[in-house]
Amino acid sequence: MYDDYECETCYRTFGSQHAASQHMNALDHWAPRYSCETCPKQFFSESAAQKHMTATGHFENYCKDCKRKFINENNLRMHLNSKIHRGSQIPCPFCKVNYTSASGLTHHLERGACQNAPFLNREKILQIVRRQDPNGIITKKQIEWYKEQTTVYEVTSQAYNGSAWECYLCHREFNARQHLTQHLNSPVHKQQVYHCPNFKCPKEFVTLAALFNHLESETCAYMKFQSVQKHVHDIVTGRKMIGF
Ligand SMILES: [Zn+2]
Ligand SMILES: [Zn+2]
Ligand SMILES: [Zn+2]
Ligand SMILES: [Zn+2]
Ligand SMILES: [Zn+2]
Ligand SMILES: [Zn+2]
Repeated sequence: MYDDYECETCYRTFGSQHAASQHMNALDHWAPRYSCETCPKQFFSESAAQKHMTATGHFENYCKDCKRKFINENNLRMHLNSKIHRGSQIPCPFCKVNYTSASGLTHHLERGACQNAPFLNREKILQIVRRQDPNGIITKKQIEWYKEQTTVYEVTSQAYNGSAWECYLCHREFNARQHLTQHLNSPVHKQQVYHCPNFKCPKEFVTLAALFNHLESETCAYMKFQSVQKHVHDIVTGRKMIGF
């Protein structure tokens, strides 16, 4: 006959579940039945599992800062976005260095200071944001005929108006392409490529950090400080379409 009933610990087999249970009772060979809500650890009793989760903060919906657990993810999220956590740390998604605000983090990325994301700078962030913002909620419409390349604006042949190289922003004319290139890359045209998403607010910005800073100040009451913080990761990593 087959012994199909296995001990959960030593894998001895028995002819019946009853026999297997007796063995496991006698030798304390029951497998652990209580799992940690987040890590793979298992425990023999509910209280041992609770003790582990309390010690490590491994509850499924848990705020480590406040040592509070929540019944579901939604409640935890509401808590994290509440006043209590206003101004809490915003880690850089690439190097994990903490910033106190979305504008601080964005400034770090826009000036190309992130060691783990050296490919990011103001122009690159702008490209990412534009891709997510086809309706121009925070970016001004792109003027098509010049190419943004890292930090250098390249003048394309379309800038030639038949007699001179013309700046599309101020319509100044140059007799050499190279002079227009210099002009476009000069501080004159550090363009204000972002605008406040509040259509009643006329403010425009050269950098995304400056826009976030404006929103964080809540001066035009468009959005709350903490919702700026909530959106920053999705925006700088290009994960979501812009929509506040
Ligand atoms: Zn056993
Ligand atoms: Zn755990
Ligand atoms: Zn908390
Ligand atoms: Zn970083
Ligand atoms: Zn110009
Ligand atoms: Zn505004």
